[in-house]
Amino acid sequence: MQSYWASIVPLPLEVCSRIDRLMASFLWGGSDLGYGKAKVKWMEVCCPIKEGGLGIKRPLEWNRVALLKHIWQLLADTSGSLWTIWVHKELLKSRSIWSIQPRTHHSWLWKRILKVRGLMENLIAWKVGDGSRISFWHDKWAAAGRLDLIFSSESRVNSCIPKEATIKAVFQSIAWGQFIDGVLPEGEGKQFFKELIQLLKPTDYPGTGADRLLWSASSNGIFSIKEAWELLRVKRQKVRWSKWIWSNAIPPRCSFLVWLIAKGKLRTAQFWHLKGLWTSAECVLCQGAEETRDHLFFECAFARQV
Ligand SMILES: [Zn+2]
Repeated sequence: MQSYWASIVPLPLEVCSRIDRLMASFLWGGSDLGYGKAKVKWMEVCCPIKEGGLGIKRPLEWNRVALLKHIWQLLADTSGSLWTIWVHKELLKSRSIWSIQPRTHHSWLWKRILKVRGLMENLIAWKVGDGSRISFWHDKWAAAGRLDLIFSSESRVNSCIPKEATIKAVFQSIAWGQFIDGVLPEGEGKQFFKELIQLLKPTDYPGTGADRLLWSASSNGIFSIKEAWELLRVKRQKVRWSKWIWSNAIPPRCSFLVWLIAKGKLRTAQFWHLKGLWTSAECVLCQGAEETRDHLFFECAFARQV
């Protein structure tokens, strides 16, 4: 349920942390998660099952990816929602989301969106149509990359192209026409266009049709929260044992116990002895060795007979 809410409503960090604690308390069997109650680190618990976790999605991570979905909707303009229209009109005001700076009067939601936008930046690119929706300087549309990162600030000033110009506006400008016709006077502006034309591929030039935003992580170019989460999460090494212990044929309680054993977190006599809470680490079943995980399940004579 928390994944559902976290995917549609941006949650404050405090709420995400609170949900984390509630889930952890529930898992480790108590209303309050006191010191030492959790047997496995929460970060490990929240890994996918194939990576040795329990497949729980952390609200913090899921929510961060949900914010990326808001950015996608804003740029791709697919939802046509009232929020998208309002952001374009009141916050962006024809400026690029990549160039806008957070201000103190902005809402916390908008500040959070601006904070995570960097995660999105390298995962999207524009397929140029007529160029009317693409920022010449700030969007990634040229195969070479973002032009505001390629050209120095001096070159950008010399070009006389406004900060928030669209591709369409630039290629329809008088300066571009004069450059193509060979009548643009020699100077810094002409030098800029020379460099630009060397940089651009034939597919970079605007033509007809609508501009299309592409999400590089999927084959159909459309953003999905699941794929974004998969791409941005911290990955761990896959474990072979996960498919053996999480089977429908095994009761969940037993699977959980074996999971603890596999993680090396089963609390044996050795654990309590090392903590100073038990006087002896001896195996209570055979009294022949220290009660470690390996002894209890693979070496103990008593357990073997059972
Ligand atoms: Zn034993």
